[in-house]
Amino acid sequence: MMISHIFPETARVRDNGHLFLGGCDAVDLVDRFGTPLYVFDEATLRSQCAQFVGEFTLRHADTQVVYACKAFINRPLAQILHEEGLGLDVVSGGELAIARAAAFPVEKVYFHGNNKTPEELRFALDAGIGRFVVDNFLELERLEALAGEAGKKQDILLRLSPGVDPHTHQHTTTGIIDSKFGFTIATGQAETAVARAMSASHLNLVGLHVHLGSPIFETEPYQLAMRMTFQFAAQMREKLGLRMAEFSPGGGFAIQYTGDSPAPPVGAYAEAIVSALHEGSRAAGMPAPRLIVEPGRSIVGRAGVALYTVGATKEIPGVRKYVSVDGGMADNIRPAIYGSRYEAVLANRTGGVGELVTIAGKFCESGDVLVRDVQLPELRTGDILAIPAAGAYCLSMASNYNASLKPPIVLVKDGNARLIRRRETYEDLMRCDVIDGR
Ligand SMILES: *Cc1c(COP(=O)(O)O)cnc(C)c1O
Repeated sequence: MMISHIFPETARVRDNGHLFLGGCDAVDLVDRFGTPLYVFDEATLRSQCAQFVGEFTLRHADTQVVYACKAFINRPLAQILHEEGLGLDVVSGGELAIARAAAFPVEKVYFHGNNKTPEELRFALDAGIGRFVVDNFLELERLEALAGEAGKKQDILLRLSPGVDPHTHQHTTTGIIDSKFGFTIATGQAETAVARAMSASHLNLVGLHVHLGSPIFETEPYQLAMRMTFQFAAQMREKLGLRMAEFSPGGGFAIQYTGDSPAPPVGAYAEAIVSALHEGSRAAGMPAPRLIVEPGRSIVGRAGVALYTVGATKEIPGVRKYVSVDGGMADNIRPAIYGSRYEAVLANRTGGVGELVTIAGKFCESGDVLVRDVQLPELRTGDILAIPAAGAYCLSMASNYNASLKPPIVLVKDGNARLIRRRETYEDLMRCDVIDGR
């Protein structure tokens, strides 16, 4: 029943038939904090960080692991990531504000995005951000002007679009030619960008960046994109005197969501990327650059488990049995927008073989289905369902649809549970209303 590579490392089913996470009984957690509840296992979080740092630096000492905040961020999490030696990749002023409020060292923060606003650019410049990953010509112009006004010389990377298909969902594919992200190598845009960045007096071009999409279950797309980027870098060195001191192959490392879709271990990605880095720089006759890797999903995904309470059921004989839970697309929209698949496990007792059911959410959309066709022991109202691999892109994409309250998060470790985000209240829903001009 327990799908060990999908649940957090500390997940166990103990003698009372309950699921334990970080030494905490899931049933007790639900009694204390209610459902829907997101449980983050601190041991898994830290071990994912350590694996990325370890596997990459072992092969290439000059590597910085940078966590992609859009997978999920808040201040307590930022603190843990800092303790583990990671940097942050932010894509908005909001994410940067969280990083700053957590006293995260800004020099280890990278700012991404294809349409950073002038306000965001100024905010990040003033904050002393480590790097802008410049995505387009408008940003190049704006940043040059703003850095000039501030009397700064700002370090930047250029985001390139190498034209590599990583074979993931089309909504999460970013490195192909037809993408809104980055300077395209094939069209000559990337070369123009390098020339402009190098001649900008308030910008310091330190390197190149690519990000292919997510999740990427193969290692070859990274190697292919890197070969193209290093060839391009070699040409730019010849033509323009570019020195690529830093290189990033982005993030997108897959995690296992279901029993039948294993993901490569971190070491396999590290091996593929570092060998491509070494081969690419050797072939180009340049020193191997500093490597920046940007995992998001693969840091927090496995650490998170969503707990729900079973409510109503509806059986349509010969068709399907729906079992509704007290959360759904407002806290996890991935099945609805990407067709993402999850496992579900009964967390408060062990049961027999049971039946094939579909786990539906409580929101007013037919598409609000969390797990289609999952084999579970016969479920009763009040049972607790656990959906694993829920740490990434669930809460960060959560909404207040149907005026629902975003769920709390507890961090569990060695039998202790610490609330790191409280459940929203009805007052929270109305906090931004303006009544009679006040
Ligand atoms: C989203 C993103 C990442 C992280 O992707 P994951 O799949 O969460 O690892 C890294 N870099 C960039 C530029 C991104 O946009």
